[in-house]
Amino acid sequence: MAQLSDDCFAFGGPMMSVDEAVGLITARVSAIADLETVTLVDADGRVLARDIAAPMPLPPFTNSAVDGYAVGNADLSQEAEQSFPLDGRIQAGGLAQAPIKPGHAARIFTGAPMPPGAETVFMQEDVRIDEAGKIVLPPGLKPGANVRPAGEDIPVGHVALRAGQRLRPQHVALAAAFGLTRLDVVRRIRVAVFSTGDELASPGEPRAASQLFDSNRFMLMAMLRRLGCEVSDIGILRDERASLASGLKRVAGHHDLILTTGGVSTGEEDHVKAAVESVGSLVLWRMAIKPGRPVAMGVVGGTPLIGLPGNPVASFVTFVHVVRPTVLALAGSLPEPLLPIPLRAAFTYKKKLGRREYVRASLRRAQDGTLEAVKFPREGAGLLSSLVETDGLIELGEDITRVEPGESVGFLSYADLL
Ligand code: AMP
Ligand code: MG
Repeated sequence: MAQLSDDCFAFGGPMMSVDEAVGLITARVSAIADLETVTLVDADGRVLARDIAAPMPLPPFTNSAVDGYAVGNADLSQEAEQSFPLDGRIQAGGLAQAPIKPGHAARIFTGAPMPPGAETVFMQEDVRIDEAGKIVLPPGLKPGANVRPAGEDIPVGHVALRAGQRLRPQHVALAAAFGLTRLDVVRRIRVAVFSTGDELASPGEPRAASQLFDSNRFMLMAMLRRLGCEVSDIGILRDERASLASGLKRVAGHHDLILTTGGVSTGEEDHVKAAVESVGSLVLWRMAIKPGRPVAMGVVGGTPLIGLPGNPVASFVTFVHVVRPTVLALAGSLPEPLLPIPLRAAFTYKKKLGRREYVRASLRRAQDGTLEAVKFPREGAGLLSSLVETDGLIELGEDITRVEPGESVGFLSYADLL
């Protein structure tokens, strides 16, 4: 389990920028050391625990990149057409019976090993066969054309996959190309998730007239699972100090992170703060971010705790900037900074200097073919529809005060956030 010191999230300043928050988390949250071995089928999304140096070159042997005819470089002509008799036929998976004779061409197919003596391949579309059955080769082909040399993709010994890499399908493909069957990965980060608030009812349970169904918990659990976490659903804890405190103590020892939503601002009915303080430590990070409210950062028995705001959109946005880097740091993952893609704004917007804002936006193809971002018409941090009906977030940096239509803005697709 993670073991953090109580003052691990201490921060001196009055306001914290998003970059400071991410920097502080990355510096102070240490990676868990537990590994496990998974088969390739189960490797997607996991964090690789050790570097993998190429045990063999890729491709493993020099082979043809096309269906065609292989010849030796000494036989290439830069000036005139030539006709060569056919000598041999090598299919993918086959091997040449003998070296190719000078002045001859071998029939070869994509992926077949080059026969000894052949260094260049003519594409079959570029040759013709004359009446005598000879292959007529055009002049001017570059020596080595249409051949994939052994190791051109990855030379043997090259560190092809790094420890800390979050595996995507292409990384799994590379491991398979090396003939590996199992990979050492960091065990899944265990996260206990609960919501707080007397106004919440769990879906499937009766809802009083003054209650709403708890949606954040399910959003956060889904987000965590996309980050590869193993999630314990603790349900809704009532805003009552003693039961919150005993609940926290119970989960702390068995989890790497405790995540809660709602009840962590400074209102008098927000008992999470007092409960955490009675069993550990807690600081409120006032982040210069909108939407977002204070985010509670705590440590209970060495286990980090993050308390996100209750408003769904604030919860979503602060998850991306606080929980995501925490989970990546716990898993020892290489940093994955979010890189907004420049797009044309199709909206006007005014904002406060010195604060980073995220505007929910949809993408649309303009008349001139350019992709542009359309702002969701309403702004409330409680509007779930604003997340459902848009494609991502426009990131407006601290130094921006307004956006005019036609200006370039940075867009983060929801698909890229997790
Ligand atoms: P709080 O952060 O507790 O002050 O809550 C802010 C707003 O978010 C209130 O309107 C809450 O009712 C709402 N809220 C709190 N927790 C949840 C939740 N788990 N699901 C949906 N809405 C919530
Ligand atoms: Mg509340």
